[in-house]
Amino acid sequence: MPALNETHDLNLTSWVASANDAQSDFPIQNLPFAVFRRQGSDEAFRGGVAIGDQIVDLAAAKDVGVFSGLAQTAAEACAAPTLNEFMGMGSEAWSALRLALSQALRSGSDAEAKLSACLVAQADAEYDLPCTIGDYTDFYTSVFHATAVGSLFRPDNPLLPNYKWVPIGYHGRSSSIDVSGQTFHRPKGQTKAPDATEPSFGPCKRLDYELEMGIYIGKGTELGDVIALDDADDHIFGMCLFNDWSARDIQAWEYQPLGPFLAKNFASTVSPWIVTTEALAPYRTAWSRDENDPQPLPYLESEQNRNEGAFDIQLEVLLESEKMRAEGQAPAKLSESSFVHSYWTVAQMVAHHTVNGCNMKPGDFFGSGTQSGPQHDEAGSLLELTRGGKEPLTLENGETRTFLEDGDAVIMRGFCAKDGAARIGFGEVVGTVLPAKA
Ligand code: CA
Repeated sequence: MPALNETHDLNLTSWVASANDAQSDFPIQNLPFAVFRRQGSDEAFRGGVAIGDQIVDLAAAKDVGVFSGLAQTAAEACAAPTLNEFMGMGSEAWSALRLALSQALRSGSDAEAKLSACLVAQADAEYDLPCTIGDYTDFYTSVFHATAVGSLFRPDNPLLPNYKWVPIGYHGRSSSIDVSGQTFHRPKGQTKAPDATEPSFGPCKRLDYELEMGIYIGKGTELGDVIALDDADDHIFGMCLFNDWSARDIQAWEYQPLGPFLAKNFASTVSPWIVTTEALAPYRTAWSRDENDPQPLPYLESEQNRNEGAFDIQLEVLLESEKMRAEGQAPAKLSESSFVHSYWTVAQMVAHHTVNGCNMKPGDFFGSGTQSGPQHDEAGSLLELTRGGKEPLTLENGETRTFLEDGDAVIMRGFCAKDGAARIGFGEVVGTVLPAKA
């Protein structure tokens, strides 16, 4: 597991002045990766690293002689239009490039003159998916979400008996995952009202978001290989924010017996920046399991996972309606939560996913499942916040919502902060609902 090292030092500052702002998501201790180009240009997409309000263009930086050895090889891999090759190089290469970037971007570094010519302002950039996502698996790791949703769908039997033994997940669809800024048409499908005798077809009436973390696999495995719990960090490149848009009325009718299908595969949105596992090291924290709950089976149990398996990542969801945009009003905050409440750790997700020999490829992607906290107002979906649409939310400007309306944009943000460590952020993920196609 990545240890704390000089790249996490709270006292580091950068010659990129905006990185030294205490509220910046991207101080020199963060150094997240994305794929970008200049907005509206026909430049090739390539890898970049965020520093303050700038991006270090790695396709340019690899040619100016500031990196050497493994860091240089890693930077060359990042010049490609996807980061899969770099992600597959493993943690030694990720760490080498992070350390080289940290040293080159520090106040007083000799690299300033050469590297300052490789900066692109984030305000001038557009992003692509950071890698080709081969396979996508969505987990269900918030027991608070699982219980609240279960009680709406199955009032007599909210939490199924396997939940506390198995990290529940399903294989999703990667083709409809896109980067922040995604717009999509309200899906149509089959739904059946509880009192109807037959289903009907039409636009979704209960469109929702899900506040999730996204997890990118780095180094892959061969079919038949198992990733042991304590080796999982060597395969986890990093994390992003993830909005798993959901059609609740379609979901309720289709989900049994094989789980979500068309309710989940019409759009899913990731934030552009991947915050690396190494950058998150200061925010690892103890993971525990209530003593009254079943304790994990041995392949999901270790001292390391108990001591540092959880990540304290603070999350929030905001909604910007068409009216707010038209009238220049700020988006309305819907809820706040933290990834620290997850019932299963990321390492347990990886260990469980591969325990049968399922192989992983660089760029494979996991959703964490909706990260609802223990309190009702910490819910990560409208389904929960409005108790299945029964209690509409009143927004600050007087608008109300049970589920999403056409024109609504959902914004998710995340950051880590604590005494003794630099605040690091994930930026944001934004997606907008368009009317159903005629
Ligand atoms: Ca989900």
